[in-house]
Amino acid sequence: MSDLTADAVATEPSGAGNPAAPGGGRTVAAAVPPSLVARLATGVTATGEPDLVETVAPLTGERLASLPQSTPADVEVAFQLARRAQGAWAALPVRRRAAVLLRFHDLLLKRQDEVLDLVQAETGKARLHAFEEVLAVAMAARHYGRAAHGYLKDKRHGGALPVLTHAVEARRPKGVVGHISPWNYPLELSVGDALPAFVAGNAVVNKPDTQTALTALWARELLIEAGLPADLWQIVIGDGPVIGPAVVEHADYVSFTGSTRTGRDVAQRAAARLVGASLELGGKNAMLVLADADLDAAAAGAVRACFSSAGQLCISIERLLVHRSVADEFLERFAARTRALRLGGGLAYGADMGSLVSARQLETTGRHVEEAVKAGATVVAGGRARPDLGPLFYEPTILDGVTPEMAVCAEETFGPVVSLYRFDTEEEAVAAANSTPYGLNSSVWTRDLRRGRAVAARLRTGTVNVNEAYAAAYGSVGSPMGGMGDSGLGRRHGAEGILRFTEAQTVATQRLMPIAPSFGLDDKQFAALMTGGLRVLKALRFK
Ligand code: NAD
Repeated sequence: MSDLTADAVATEPSGAGNPAAPGGGRTVAAAVPPSLVARLATGVTATGEPDLVETVAPLTGERLASLPQSTPADVEVAFQLARRAQGAWAALPVRRRAAVLLRFHDLLLKRQDEVLDLVQAETGKARLHAFEEVLAVAMAARHYGRAAHGYLKDKRHGGALPVLTHAVEARRPKGVVGHISPWNYPLELSVGDALPAFVAGNAVVNKPDTQTALTALWARELLIEAGLPADLWQIVIGDGPVIGPAVVEHADYVSFTGSTRTGRDVAQRAAARLVGASLELGGKNAMLVLADADLDAAAAGAVRACFSSAGQLCISIERLLVHRSVADEFLERFAARTRALRLGGGLAYGADMGSLVSARQLETTGRHVEEAVKAGATVVAGGRARPDLGPLFYEPTILDGVTPEMAVCAEETFGPVVSLYRFDTEEEAVAAANSTPYGLNSSVWTRDLRRGRAVAARLRTGTVNVNEAYAAAYGSVGSPMGGMGDSGLGRRHGAEGILRFTEAQTVATQRLMPIAPSFGLDDKQFAALMTGGLRVLKALRFK
């Protein structure tokens, strides 16, 4: 495997490179024994004698799991089972459903080591970055566990005729949500995004990426232990272009996270069926370092912003826009921190960055860097694969001198590569940050918090973090998170993150008098009465 991947993108490292992290922890083979894979695989909806699909541990290239693949017919079965379970679940009071999320929160924190091993084994990311997923899911479980009742409760509205019309907005579950998730945050993007769907009274048919299906299957087991009826969460796995459309074909609502290209296809299929969809897609996110920024804090923040999960994070920063007056000093501090990052793949804390997930990610990363260098960009740090550490390691890389014709300038790399650009005015920085069809996340660094928020208001991204990379906005789970432009439609988190899984239903009850000529009034008299009534209501500031 290493021959296929690392050699294709870079030469053997020479001279000083990023240091290796101390090893330690269990091996992949010990952490993911065949007995665990066999147990988790029973959670896949796949009937008959399914074809098996192999996954590989990115850290070492060794065989990880052999999993049954679902067929489009299995997807249909999954929807039938989910639909059958959904009615009774939806009939439970919200608080009973929410209690499952709160129990899940506690179980997850208690048994986090099990899933940290799985996430590392399936993605190759550092344990600290795997832990971010535990954190995000626990926060979402607590938030929706506590706040779902408020989001979902009936809301009284002014009726058509004051006093005589009683109007209530109710929230009904969509039914069965088709939930398609990628490999990069397998815990957060499978169960984290499913929690609000469940608490709103839905069932879920989830298609995780095959590479990271074990993590989703583990989360399903844990949620069942917390009290979720087993049939309510179906997991199907298989080839994305085959199984993904089958999920969309049966879903009452689609929740998709993945690339913009696939997102467009999913959106079209959902639109053809007139079912709603939320789409959490790609980005080319910018971080702005203003002249008055605390440069040490910004340099440390940039490391988190650019290299968490080896840059395979949708809200990762790939463009650093730095005020010219501080750019050299910032770059020096940022590069020193970047070169010191310890790379490694033990299933234990201690590494600052892990490996990429697949040969495809390694290929894109290497190609973006090499093309840029050939066209005149400078490598300030990193810039090469590290096959000495594992088949898919690539050093955290900073490029300077990147110009618009280079792919790395505008295309999402989705790897540990960031390019630095200098600006002279705030106007220029805002224009540069916004000069992309994407609009997912951005980050602004300044000592003047008011100014930071004013700049944020001018950025066309769904989240903006002032003096933080991404975790401040993402972790504020009561507040919506998602993308503008090519970065998607709809939001996770907050009210929007749960109400998307519901249909609004207005129940209006009329008393005493119909909304029509009555009590002996003819049409003209009725029209005159209503006209007078409307004028009075406006004068009384009725809403
Ligand atoms: P991808 O679009 O290739 O795959 C995502 C999921 O869709 C996988 O489960 C895949 O099997 C499935 N799929 C593939 N083809 C399909 C089809 N035709 N119909 C339906 N489903 C299909 O994306 P990826 O490479 O796995 O993930 C990386 C991308 O996801 C990046 O662009 C990243 O920015 C984005 N992402 C976005 C967010 C966010 O919240 N905005 C979060 C994580 C990742």
